[in-house]
Amino acid sequence: MSTVSTVNGGISFWYAKEGTPAPREPLPGDTGADVCIVGGGYTGLWTAYYLKKAVPFLNITVLEARFCGYGASGRNGGWLYNGIAGRDRYAKLHGHDAAVRLQQAMNDTVGEVIRIAGDEGIDADIHHGGVLEVAHTPSQLARLKDFHSVEIAFGETDRVLRGARETAERIRVSGAVGSSWTPHGARLHPAKLVKGLADAVEALGVTIHESTPVTEIKPKHAVTPYGTVRAPYILRCTEGFTAALKGQKRTWLPMNSSMIVTEPLPESLWDTIGWDGRETLGDMAHAYMYAQRTADDRIALGGRGVPYRYGSATDNDGRTRPATVEALRDLLVRFFPTTAGTRIDHAWSGVLGVPRDWCATVTLDRSTGLGWAGGYVGSGVATANLAARTLRDLIQQDSGQAGPTDLTALPWVNHRVRRWEPEPLRWLGVHTLHAAYRTADRRESASPHLGTDRLAKAADRIAGRH
Ligand SMILES: Cc1cc2nc3c(=O)[nH]c(=O)nc-3n(C[C@H](O)[C@H](O)[C@H](O)COP(=O)(O)OP(=O)(O)OC[C@H]3O[C@@H](n4cnc5c(N)ncnc54)[C@H](O)[C@@H]3O)c2cc1C
Repeated sequence: MSTVSTVNGGISFWYAKEGTPAPREPLPGDTGADVCIVGGGYTGLWTAYYLKKAVPFLNITVLEARFCGYGASGRNGGWLYNGIAGRDRYAKLHGHDAAVRLQQAMNDTVGEVIRIAGDEGIDADIHHGGVLEVAHTPSQLARLKDFHSVEIAFGETDRVLRGARETAERIRVSGAVGSSWTPHGARLHPAKLVKGLADAVEALGVTIHESTPVTEIKPKHAVTPYGTVRAPYILRCTEGFTAALKGQKRTWLPMNSSMIVTEPLPESLWDTIGWDGRETLGDMAHAYMYAQRTADDRIALGGRGVPYRYGSATDNDGRTRPATVEALRDLLVRFFPTTAGTRIDHAWSGVLGVPRDWCATVTLDRSTGLGWAGGYVGSGVATANLAARTLRDLIQQDSGQAGPTDLTALPWVNHRVRRWEPEPLRWLGVHTLHAAYRTADRRESASPHLGTDRLAKAADRIAGRH
C-alpha cells in the first residue's frame, strides 16, 4: 500500500471532487441585525435555519472566518448519530429521567436531519444504516457489553448485541469478537450537508458574510476587521476555533482528529469485507477509530493523531503529520487485511471542541444576549442540530414570543463548566492522557483479562470524563 500519492490537507477529502464553494462577500462595514451568528458550520447554519423558519422577518447575519464548512462540519467522519457528549454526567447532575429525555431528543435528531435534508433537496449521500461498534479484545468486549446495557437503560431498546459470527455476517473486521448495533445513525457526506445547508439558509433570506473573522464578541457586538455587527443576540458557534476569540483561550480545548480515505475499492475487495449495510463503524478502543463506507465505495477512517497543539493552536488547512497517516493506514489494514495493497487517496485533520468536563452545552445568557453551543467533543453532526433548535427556542422564549419548550428543559441547557488549565499544564495533561490511553489499548490487546486497564480508568478520572 502506498501513501506517496496521498493528498495531504487541502481542508478535507470531502472537497476534493467538487472543490470548495464559491466565496461569499465579506462584511462590507458596520451594520445591525436582530441575531448575529458567529461561525458557519452546522451549529451556526442550523441555528440560522430554524430561527428564520420560525420568525421569517428576523434579520439574521452569519459571520464566517473562512467559508461555510471550513471547520469540522466540512471535515468529519460523516457519522450522523445519536451520541451526545456528557449524557452520563447530566444523568448524575439532573437525574436519570432528564438524561433519558436528552437521549430521546438525540435519537429523534437523526431523523430530523434526514427529513430536513430531504425537504430542502440537500443530497448529502445519506444512508440510514445505523451504527456498528465492534470489540477486538476481552477487555473491549466487556466494555462493549457494559456500553450496550447502559444504552438500553437510556431507552435504546432497539439496540442489538451480536457475537463474532453474526458480526462477521455484517462486516468482516479482522479479530472482531462482538459488536453492538443501533439503528439511530446514518452515514453522510459532511461537506455536501454543510454546503446545502448554507445555500438553503441563504435562500431563506439570511445574510452570510465569509472571509470575515470575528476577533471579539461582547454583549450586542461582534467585532471584525471589516466592521462591527450590532445585535441584541450574538451567538458563538465556533467550536474547536473558540480559543482564538478574545477572552476564550481556555474555554474549549481544540482536540485534533485525523482521517484517511482509500481509493474506491473494487467489488472483489468488498466481497472479502461485506459491509453491505453501510453502517458507520467504530470500535471500543480507548484511542477509538471511526469509519464509513462512502457513497463511491471508499473507506474513510479516522482516529488517532496529534491530539492537541500547544497553546490551543489549530491545524493548517487540515495538513496531517506523515506518522499519523501511517498509523491510520496501519489501523485500516489491521481492520481489513485485504486492503493491504490499497492506495490512500487523501489524509486530513480538523478540530473538535472539548470542554473541561467533556459535556456538550447550549446556553443563552438572558442578561447579555450572548449565546453559544458546542463542546460536542467528537459527536457534533447530529448534536449541532439539536443545539440549533434549542437556541431557537431559547431566543423565542427570551424575546417573549414563546414559552419554555421540551427542548429548553433538557439538562444540557445553560450548563456552565470551569475553564481548562493554563499552559504548559494543558498541553502536558492532554499528551499524557493520550499516551495513557494508547498504552492501555496495547496492554488490553495483550491481556486475556476482561477488565478495563487501570491506566485508562485513571486517565478517565483525571480527564474529568467520569
Ligand atoms: C476529523 C473529524 C471527524 C469527526 N467525525 C465526526 C463524526 O463522524 N460524527 C460526529 O457526530 N461528529 C464528528 N466530528 C465532530 C463534528 O464534525 C463537529 O462537532 C461539528 O461539525 C461541529 O460543528 P460546528 O458548527 O459547531 O463547528 P465547526 O464546523 O468547526 O464550525 C465552526 C465555524 O466557525 C468558523 N469560525 C471559527 N472562529 C471564527 C471567528 N472568530 N469568526 C468567524 N468564524 C469563525 C470556522 O471557520 C468554522 O467554519 C468530527 C470532527 C472532526 C474534526
